[in-house]
Amino acid sequence: ASFGFREVPLAEKQTLVDDVFHKVASRYDIMNDVMSGGLHRLWKDAMVARLSPPRLGRRPYEVLDMAGGTGDIAFRIVEKSDRKAKVTVSDINASMLQVGRERAEKRGLSANLDFVEANAEELPFESNRFDAYTIAFGIRNVPRIDKALAEAFRVLRPGGRLLVLEFSAVDLPVLDRLYDAFSFNVIPLMGRVIAGDGEPYRYLVESIRAFPSQERFAGMIRDAGFARVDYTNFTGGIAALHSGWKI
Ligand code: SAM
Repeated sequence: ASFGFREVPLAEKQTLVDDVFHKVASRYDIMNDVMSGGLHRLWKDAMVARLSPPRLGRRPYEVLDMAGGTGDIAFRIVEKSDRKAKVTVSDINASMLQVGRERAEKRGLSANLDFVEANAEELPFESNRFDAYTIAFGIRNVPRIDKALAEAFRVLRPGGRLLVLEFSAVDLPVLDRLYDAFSFNVIPLMGRVIAGDGEPYRYLVESIRAFPSQERFAGMIRDAGFARVDYTNFTGGIAALHSGWKI
C-alpha cells in the first residue's frame, strides 16, 4: 500500500507528515545515515559553509532553522560560528524537537539554542528579526509552500538570507535510473528491515517525486519576494541548495 501523497488533500497532508515524524523521531538520525550512505552530512556541511555564519560581530548572528528536527543544521551553525550564533530550532513536531534538545545537551550546545514548536506556515516570531532562515529537507513536507516562503520573508531582516536544502531532480542520465530503482525499492525495504515499518519511507520517496524541480522552486522563491535567487546541485541533483536574499 502507498500513501498516494499526490492525491491527499492539503488539509490531511500535515496530519500524515506529523504521524511519520512522530513514528521515526527516535531512529531518525540513524536512518538518515543509513539511507543516504552518510551523504546528508556532506550536503549539510556544504549548506552551512555557504551560510558562513560570522564569528565576530557586535550582536549575535540570529538564525531560524525551520523544520529543524533533531538539530543537525543548528549544531553545525553554532559550531561553525565558534559559538557566536544564536539559533532557534523550530519544528511542528514535539517528538523531533525532544530528540534535538537531548542531543544539544550532550554536545554542550544548549546555551546557543532555543527550541520552539511551530508551523512553518504561521510563525510565532516578529517581523524583520532573523539574519538567516535555513530549512533542510523540511519544505517539501509543508503543505502550503508559498505560505512558508512568505513567512520566511517576513521574519528575515532586510539583508537577511534564505537557504533551502531539499531533495531535488536528478539531472544525470545514468544516475537518475539508479536513483529511481534505489528509492522505490531499496528505501522502503530498508525502512521495513531497520525501522520495522516501510510506510513512512514510502512517503519520503513520494514526497520527493512530488516536489517541484530546481527551476520551478527558484521561481516560487522569487514570487515570495526574494532577490538574487540561485541554486547549486549536490550529487547530480539528488539534493539542491537554493539561496535568496531579502533586500
Ligand atoms: N532539518 C532536519 C534535518 O535536516 O535533519 C529535519 C528534516 S526532517 C526530514 C523534516 C522535518 O520537517 C520534520 O522534523 C517535520 O516535523 C518537519 N515539518 C513538517 N511539516 C512542518 C511544518 N508545517 N512546519 C514546521 N516543520 C515541519
